[in-house]
Amino acid sequence: MKSDPDEDLLLSIAEEVMKCLSRYRFFEKLDDALSPIDSSQVPRKCSSSYEISEQILLALGFTPTDTADIFGVLKYKSAGCACEILFNVAESSRFRETYWRNRARQLGHEFSSFPKHD
Ligand SMILES: [Zn+2]
Repeated sequence: MKSDPDEDLLLSIAEEVMKCLSRYRFFEKLDDALSPIDSSQVPRKCSSSYEISEQILLALGFTPTDTADIFGVLKYKSAGCACEILFNVAESSRFRETYWRNRARQLGHEFSSFPKHD
């Protein structure tokens, strides 16, 4: 295991790393993996690690040194795994929309099951 890059370095590279990730459409690709547009595709399950993210980044041509910095920045932004990246870092994602749509449905169900007075 590599040690985490130090915080000053992370702060100084964070903005550029984020720009780079959006330019390479990393968030869209991660979203596609966890919440595919094509419903015939099986969504990948987050393994509570950077596993899926790392595969995507390496496929995009990032080196293992790059990914160490990228994950340092993501961790700093409170994203410790694929779903947290889509929740806490990506500006928008289908994954997050679907989560809240289901959540709203659940809450609606709970509200409607409250005992009613008449
Ligand atoms: Zn996760």
